[in-house]
Amino acid sequence: MTEESYGGNNGISKGKAMFTKKTASSIKASIKEKKEASNPNSELDLESYRKAGEIARKIKEFARSIIKKEVKLVEIADKVENKILELGGRPAFPVNLCINEIAAHDTPKYGDERTTYGLLKIDFGVAVQGCICDVAFSLDLENNEENKKLIESSDKALAEALKVIKKDVEIYKIGSKIHGIITASGFAPIRNLSGHEVSSYQIHAGLTIPNYDNGNENKLPEGAYAIEPFSTNGQGLVYEGASSGIYRFEQIKGVRDMSARKILEFILEEYKTMPFCERWLIKIFGTKAKLSLSFLQREGIIAQYPQLIEKGKGKVSQAETTVLALDETEVLC
Ligand code: MN
Ligand code: MN
Repeated sequence: MTEESYGGNNGISKGKAMFTKKTASSIKASIKEKKEASNPNSELDLESYRKAGEIARKIKEFARSIIKKEVKLVEIADKVENKILELGGRPAFPVNLCINEIAAHDTPKYGDERTTYGLLKIDFGVAVQGCICDVAFSLDLENNEENKKLIESSDKALAEALKVIKKDVEIYKIGSKIHGIITASGFAPIRNLSGHEVSSYQIHAGLTIPNYDNGNENKLPEGAYAIEPFSTNGQGLVYEGASSGIYRFEQIKGVRDMSARKILEFILEEYKTMPFCERWLIKIFGTKAKLSLSFLQREGIIAQYPQLIEKGKGKVSQAETTVLALDETEVLC
């Protein structure tokens, strides 16, 4: 996702209201506890990452088996998210289903009538104890040569980047490899979308893994990283479009409105610092959740991600996986 998107350090400590302050600090404590309990000697809970990877592998197969042309997007998202839960993981963010020039951040809304077509990207995340495996792949649903070439180029860029990525490699080399492969296929990588570090309950943490040579000569520290080349026949840049229905928690403030407060408490408990969507909350609280979400957004407590659209309206393909950069690199899915 974009460098600033999907997580980061969302001011969880800025507190006013007691109830939420308490909730937030207990979340913080439980995240810390889980980290320490599961792996006292390391920052990375390897076992949970591997489990997340195993589930993601099965989800990838499952998604491929249910995605056909003209299937409702909402049906695919619901099924994939339910399957993640069934296999013992949590969706790390709402399943993204992005068609053609929409590069990222489109999840079906409640009651969404849209169906699949064109060049479809499926981007999902599996969290186990807050350890996230972030995965995406693309499908051509119209038997189109250009789509197929785009998909091939992002797949190849990912495969080649996986050969380069390892602990202590200079970061620009990963981007340079991705850029080289995609331009050699006659397309452009999307420069303002990038891979990223993942950490406990944070889909986007710290380091950025570029899709071009960004001149970063720093060495890659040990850690968990999502690599995600995007290939396009457009300009290679995205701009922010309509609201996506995907939200993140921003900051804690006092909430007098009872239903909004209930929903906020639920968000903090259930999703912690991970993105969520209207569709999930409507299933639990009914359609009145919509009002509460707009209230929380107006108050600046939550924020909505915009869709990210290719600037030249080019078609976009994406391939993504998550790796552990240790002494040996482990590809999780
Ligand atoms: Mn990602
Ligand atoms: Mn992703």
